[in-house]
Amino acid sequence: MKAEIIAVGSELLTPYFQDTNSLFLTEKLNEAGFEVRFKTIVGDREEDIAEVFRNALGRSRLVIFSGGLGPTEDDLTRAAVARVLGCHLVLDTSILEGIERKFASRGYSMPDINKRQAQVLVGAEVLENSRGTAPGLWLEEKGVFIALLPGPPREIKHMFQTEVLPRLQALGGGRRVVRKTFSIAGMTESEVDARVAPIYKTYDRVQTTILAGTSHISLHLSRWLDPGEEPSDLIELASRIQEALGSAIFTTENEPIEAVVGRMLRQAGSSLAVAESCTSGMVGAYLTRIPGSSSYFSGGVLCYSNKAKTDLCRVPEETLERHGAVSGETAEALARGVRQVLGSAIGLSVTGIAGPDGGSAEKPLGLVFVGLSDDNRDLHIRRILPGDRNAVRERAAFFALACLRRFLMPESAAGKP
Ligand code: ATP
Ligand code: MG
Repeated sequence: MKAEIIAVGSELLTPYFQDTNSLFLTEKLNEAGFEVRFKTIVGDREEDIAEVFRNALGRSRLVIFSGGLGPTEDDLTRAAVARVLGCHLVLDTSILEGIERKFASRGYSMPDINKRQAQVLVGAEVLENSRGTAPGLWLEEKGVFIALLPGPPREIKHMFQTEVLPRLQALGGGRRVVRKTFSIAGMTESEVDARVAPIYKTYDRVQTTILAGTSHISLHLSRWLDPGEEPSDLIELASRIQEALGSAIFTTENEPIEAVVGRMLRQAGSSLAVAESCTSGMVGAYLTRIPGSSSYFSGGVLCYSNKAKTDLCRVPEETLERHGAVSGETAEALARGVRQVLGSAIGLSVTGIAGPDGGSAEKPLGLVFVGLSDDNRDLHIRRILPGDRNAVRERAAFFALACLRRFLMPESAAGKP
């Protein structure tokens, strides 16, 4: 069934704010059997909102508004919808009392402007907002279902789950979508496509999308199912893709690589220390985004200068003089040194030239060395990463974690990071 999302808010038309509510809504709508065919972002102007809504009414079975239900002059969704439907807004005294109570419970008296939030469209059902003041509204107009939901993400998410989803389940017609995502490291988009296109092209009911992010490639499969239908073709395709890409896939759970290496470290009962030059803390920050990382992550050193490399990570001055700070030898010495200094089982290091200055013919911009060290072996991996300073740093941090993943894998399974 065709659905459409209208995100209201002038801030969403500036360079500073993004409409993320529609991403959440799309995911949930798809699961409930609705296909999102249009998304519009519109500013806080009543006639513009009305125009978008008029178009939506003509082409969609479900229209979901996000935002513009607040108390201020620029919150115009209710008024625009009322104008298009030719219905009145009336003050609902029980909603008004509810809003007054919410203010009172926090020790405030309700400002007069909040009265607007108690206005409802005649004929609409009120959707409870337990996370904020503005209630939502649900109505049906000539076979089109319409939901007006608040803008703040925590309010809309909760209201959608508790108030909208139960209503949609009755309408969805039983269609649903199943998805599968593969996250891939160490291959380019075209390498991935060359390897899997001959396979996925033979599954015409499964939609396959390959996306290149800054640090890695993701491959998405999705398949719409009719009531009672099983996704057997998607399951078969997924297992053929798994076979074709092998250990280049670092997760099928849509999780970041630091979650994957964290789990491996935990399972191995191992511990990790990092020495970061060109990424200066990014690898450590990624690792510690994972709750419970303290059980395997000892800490790290931001060793940007040569002095920091020798003083804090025991890199011999001679290594730096002979090979330079950006070299395989220095990367290994850093990994070994930080492991010893922090008493960890494994040391991981990154050193590179993020630019924009400092490149040479021998050591070009984007050149990165990752070092790894444990009791049995010291090694380094060299890579030239594309992009500007920010992209090189972000890619280097990811590359370091991808190398660590290979290091932690049984040798028979590990290939290139
Ligand atoms: P309020 O009572 O807070 O005014 P509202 O329903 O009027 O609620 P808006 O004023 O449109 O909602 O938005 C409130 C805040 O919610 C915005 O400042 C913004 O941070 C966030 N927000 C609004 N729309 C979106 C969106 N589509 N995606 C992500 N965040 C949003
Ligand atoms: Mg508002």
